[in-house]
Amino acid sequence: MKLGSVVVLEVVENVKIASHGRDNEPAIIKREKKEVEFMVQIFCNAKHMTKDNLCLNCCEFLAYTKKRLDNCPYQAKKPACGICDLSCYEPKKKEKGLKVFTYSGPRMFFKHPVLAFRHLMDAFNQPKKPNL
Ligand SMILES: [Zn+2]
Repeated sequence: MKLGSVVVLEVVENVKIASHGRDNEPAIIKREKKEVEFMVQIFCNAKHMTKDNLCLNCCEFLAYTKKRLDNCPYQAKKPACGICDLSCYEPKKKEKGLKVFTYSGPRMFFKHPVLAFRHLMDAFNQPKKPNL
């Protein structure tokens, strides 16, 4: 019985991490998760005729992207994904990512100018290979 409640607690903790991020999560990771969420939303709404929710495929892609961000070895020193030398996405996800970002990137200017502006600043300001 005791073991059971530990497992439940762990599951609850994991769900919390998945939906709200870790407590010590660097600001840039938090922000990029928000950005990618926004971009997938724009893409899915337009291409897959969804409204406030995401289709299964985009939902899965978003979860994958957030997991990549969680596992990014650069964390606080993370460069913009587009110029990163790690290419940590598997080929199929990378392909989808390119579609999503090229479609939604320019549209972010109209829907969420602040996020879009920050995203561009990151792409241009950060060094290609951050020192770990
Ligand atoms: Zn979709």
